This record gives sequence, C-alpha cells and structure tokens, in this order.
Amino acid sequence: MKRIFCFLFCLLFSINIFAQRTVIYCGKLVVPQTLEVRDEMSILIEGNKIIDIQKGYFIASAGDRVIDLKSKTVMPGLIDCHVHITSETKKGNNVEGFTLNPADIAFESLKYANITLMSGFTTIRDLGGNGVNISMRNAINRGSVIGPRIYTAGKSIATTGGHADPTNSLRKDLMGNPGPVEGVINGADEAYQAVRQRYKEGSDLIKITATGGVLSQAKDGANAQFTIEEVRAIVAAAKDYGFKVAAHAHGAEGIKRAIRGGVNSIEHGTFMDDEALQLMKQFGTYLVPTIIAGKSTADSAKIQGYYTSIVTPKALATGPLIQAAFGRAYKAGVKIAFGTDAGVFAHGKNWREFVYMTEAGMPILECIRAATVNAADLLGVSSTLGTIEKGKFADIIAVDGDPTKDINAMGKVKFVMKDGVVYKND
Ligand SMILES: [Zn+2]
Repeated sequence: MKRIFCFLFCLLFSINIFAQRTVIYCGKLVVPQTLEVRDEMSILIEGNKIIDIQKGYFIASAGDRVIDLKSKTVMPGLIDCHVHITSETKKGNNVEGFTLNPADIAFESLKYANITLMSGFTTIRDLGGNGVNISMRNAINRGSVIGPRIYTAGKSIATTGGHADPTNSLRKDLMGNPGPVEGVINGADEAYQAVRQRYKEGSDLIKITATGGVLSQAKDGANAQFTIEEVRAIVAAAKDYGFKVAAHAHGAEGIKRAIRGGVNSIEHGTFMDDEALQLMKQFGTYLVPTIIAGKSTADSAKIQGYYTSIVTPKALATGPLIQAAFGRAYKAGVKIAFGTDAGVFAHGKNWREFVYMTEAGMPILECIRAATVNAADLLGVSSTLGTIEKGKFADIIAVDGDPTKDINAMGKVKFVMKDGVVYKND
C-alpha cells in the first residue's frame, strides 16, 4: 500500500501537478509575430513553459506566484544572433592568445554571460571562440553558471591566412599549418573534415569567414576567401550533421559565393551590391547586420594604439558603412535577424543595435521581431522560442517605458525570466 502511494506520488510529481503556477501581469505586451502591442494582458506559466495568455489581469488562485509588471512593457526574451561570449575588446588584446589560459578566458567570460542575460538577451548564437564557448554553454545548461541559452559555432572555419586563421601575423615557426582540426581548410575534403571536427567537439552550428575581416591581423578586410566549391562542401557537410551555416562576409564577391553556396545567414554584409541583395531574397538568406560592431570598432580605431597598424585602417574604413548597407537590405525586403557581434564591443550594450536599426529605417516593432521571431527561425528553434505562446519556453523580459515611443526603453530591462526562472526583477 505504502509502495503504491509512493508510486502515485512520484507519478503526479513527474507530471508537474505540484509545480507552482506563475502569473505575470503585463501593462503592455509586445506581440512581435503580429507587430502589435496589447494592453493589460496576463501570461500563465507552469514549470518552464507558457501555458496560457489571457486578456486582462487573470485572477490568481491561492498558491500562484504573481509577478506584477503592470507598469512595464513585456516581450519575449531577446535573441542576439551574433555574439562572441568568451571575449571582449580591449586595447592591445591581440597578444592574449599567448597570455591567457583557457581557465582565464572562462572566468572572464562568466561576467559576459551574466550581463548579456541581465540585459534581456535570453538566447545568443555564439559565432566563434576557442572551445571555452562550448564549455560555457554546457555549464549554463547544467545550471552551474548564469547566462543566456547558447547556440555556439565553437571554432570558426577559415582558409589559410583568412579571417579566423588563428596563426595570422605570428612568427613563421609559430604559424605552422593549423589545418581543419583547428578550423583552417583548403579544398572540399578539408571542409568536410573541419565540419566533422566541429560535430565531434559539440558545436551547434557552423560559422565560416567567407571574406576578410576587420579585426584579423591581415591586410584585406573584404576579399573573397573561400571558393564556391569550398562553401558548397561546408554546407553539404553541415547538412549531414544537422548544422546551419553562418557566413561572416563583407565584400560583395564573397557574399555572393556564400549565398549561392547555400549558407543560412550573411553576417555584416558591408559591401553588398544590388545583385547580392537580389540573391539574398532569391535564396531566403538572412542578413545579421551588426551595425553596432561597425560603429564601435571605428570609434576604437581612433584611439592611439587600440588596434595594430594593420587593423586600424580597416576599422576606420569598414565600420561606418554597415548601417547604410543594412538600410538598403531592409528596404529591398531581405530577411533580417538581429545580431550585434558583442565582444567586439562591451557585452551588455547589445540593445544599442535597436537604436541604429531604427535610425536606418526599420520600425522598432520590426526590430523586436528580428530579435525574437526571425532570430528563432534562423536558429531553427521556432517551435520553442521567439514568441510568448502556449507551449513555448518561458523566456520573458520587461522594460521600463514604451519602446514604441522611446527606443531607449530597450536599454532599461527590469525583468528577466529564462526557462521559467526569474533572474532579474527590479
Ligand atoms: Zn563576429
């Protein structure tokens, strides 16, 4: 008898019948999928899932936890599709590869993860680091570390001497030949090996550096660095392992090869021409703009000695162009997913991207849709994230004020819930 009772109790417990219900009163609720803001709504949550959304302020039962956000604007947890969660810019940090142990990087990264979550970004797509990013994701998933949900590329894949070849500018005997295990490929066979290595290491997606980049120790910041055959091989290998592919790309030729090769997103897109815009629409490729990264690297480049002499002119020339490129892409009807390149500037300032996107002509509710619905689509997680709907994970934030009236409200995040757990409630 006692055993049967115990069995029933365990069964009931496992189907969550004793889980406390949470009711959130929302003064305003942003509904990004329909670009609406609704007044006086209630969200019901059980465990880590949203179980209902109701008009008005739902009358809570005894035992319900009530969170009063009647004076706030509530929206789905934000998603940043381009973050480097295990690094942050500072003057002269190009030598850190020689001075930091993985543990040093990990301890520093704790605060980056924390501030990102507290700024309302409950999910990020990490686009390249040094292996610590995979450990960080696992530690957050285990509950050992506080931070956003992370989908990480692990190590970016480059070609020899390309953006994300980790040995650029080193003394020749230190350069060696990193090879596909370290994410440096030449030819289709090595492309396959590099993707398989990322699978083995536990990446969630693939990042390639389709063109030169601003912050690498190399001369050209925009040239095509993959052949189309190499892009196709990466994309084909990625499909075998269920990976999507993000392509860092500034120059038009590299952008077009990446799109034709089948990548899912173009990161930055600085020198897109009209043909590239048309191709993005034709292939349904997302643009992840990272306007703030362009602006902040151009600003940093004005500080004497901030970057090396090979990086400074690239940052000054490239950075300021990204906002206009984004504006053209938006007006052309290209799909946009929100992304900032945080790490290239200080983590926690991601929200400034909303300001720059609206400056370039995208209304704020569309920007929020880019950072929720579209970002979840790009990640391939629309069934669980990106909107506040029945059955989805309870990733919910609230800001002071109304972002449709004052964009700076996006920087005033007062409430953060991720997976049904409240991390911030000021
Ligand atoms: Zn980046």
